[in-house]
Amino acid sequence: MVKIGVLALQGAVSEHLNHIEKSGAEAINVKNPEQLDDLDGLILPGGESTTMRKLMLKYGFLEPIRTFAKKGKALFGTCAGMIILAKDIEGDLEEEESLGLMDVKVRRNSFGRQVDSFEADLDITGLDAPFPAIFIRAPHILSVSDHVDIVSTWEDRIVAVRQGNILATSFHPELTDDYRMIGLFIDMARKAHVPADS
Ligand code: GLN
Repeated sequence: MVKIGVLALQGAVSEHLNHIEKSGAEAINVKNPEQLDDLDGLILPGGESTTMRKLMLKYGFLEPIRTFAKKGKALFGTCAGMIILAKDIEGDLEEEESLGLMDVKVRRNSFGRQVDSFEADLDITGLDAPFPAIFIRAPHILSVSDHVDIVSTWEDRIVAVRQGNILATSFHPELTDDYRMIGLFIDMARKAHVPADS
């Protein structure tokens, strides 16, 4: 069975675990880097990206996740997770390094304060009907390099991207009852999966 981990340092972890299980994959709560060895895919959840970066550094996750990506395993960053995946974070003043795996520039909190959270129906490449996307103090992508595919936009802003084995969304697919986004990601991870008996 395809195994998908959720980085469980901070943020919306249980909702992702639930989505993975409901979609027929095995869900793993990831608290230490050694657990990555067993996984086909890893989700970096939404939450607070500055805090998450500090915790990733403290618990030694940055290099192991970069190696995980280099091996061709699948990664999915939602909201704060998208920020952490970006190579360029606009106006970034943090001293801690970030993951920097996607060739994109991101702007944090670009849709307003917590109270301005909203839902929008998005057209998404690979899905045949609009997806009900929930945005919470969400980032958006300002620019992408040539090898990044734009998967969705909302009001002319880029809100979902894919670069090879890495997917990122500004919104929180795990907060809906719609399992199509996690389904897309499980398909990406399945391609990275090596059956135990091979
Ligand atoms: N605004 C948060 C940040 O910059 C992200 C919000 C979210 O993940 N829902 O880290």
